[in-house]
Amino acid sequence: MLDTKKILHLIGVESYKLRVNEHPEQLENTKGDWSILESEVKNCTKCSLHKSRTQTVFGFGNKDSDWLFIGEAPGKDEDLQGEPFVGRSGRLLNEIIFSIGLSREEIYIANILKCRPTNNRKPLPKDRKPLPKEINKCSPYLEQQIKMISPKIIIAVGETAAQYLLGSDLKIGKLRGTVHSYSSENIPVVVVYHPAYLLRSPSQKYKVLSDLQLAKGVMK
Ligand code: URA
Repeated sequence: MLDTKKILHLIGVESYKLRVNEHPEQLENTKGDWSILESEVKNCTKCSLHKSRTQTVFGFGNKDSDWLFIGEAPGKDEDLQGEPFVGRSGRLLNEIIFSIGLSREEIYIANILKCRPTNNRKPLPKDRKPLPKEINKCSPYLEQQIKMISPKIIIAVGETAAQYLLGSDLKIGKLRGTVHSYSSENIPVVVVYHPAYLLRSPSQKYKVLSDLQLAKGVMK
């Protein structure tokens, strides 16, 4: 099947940017209240992913933390357990976090999407990337989480999170290795490779460790 990139290529467009956040959905006024926000997410039916989810995956960790890790979306394990990064990628992420002297409980971890995106294939649906329209509907929850946590640094885990947070269409290889800023709040952002990629390409782990040292430097 043709994907968006191929269709655009066929009509002569070689470079494009997903403008996912130009008209973000507005949230009900949560008044900075975690329980209201959590309950909004739990009951959300703004996109069709609510039909296939086992449960929503709101976030995990210390809401007062200086460190906020942001991933893409829940996968199968996260959908079953209701917690971000608990599968194989999650175990590797825990090790990475540990390597900079932190634990999962000391940081906060959230995703752009709160429901698992799948291809809905029966009997074994496969994870897929979030669609721009899903990001548009769901990202206001993340934006509110960022406001309420008010972290000193954001770690964008993987390309989707990096591109969303930085409003960029650059590849992750170009985005990692420097300190960016999350524009509306001026929070430093450091981009790291997604642990799912590291499981496939373990030789790249040293780059994540070096990027997290960069992040630690920002926190000094
Ligand atoms: N990948 C993500 O981006 N987030 C998760 O929670 C799990 C896997």
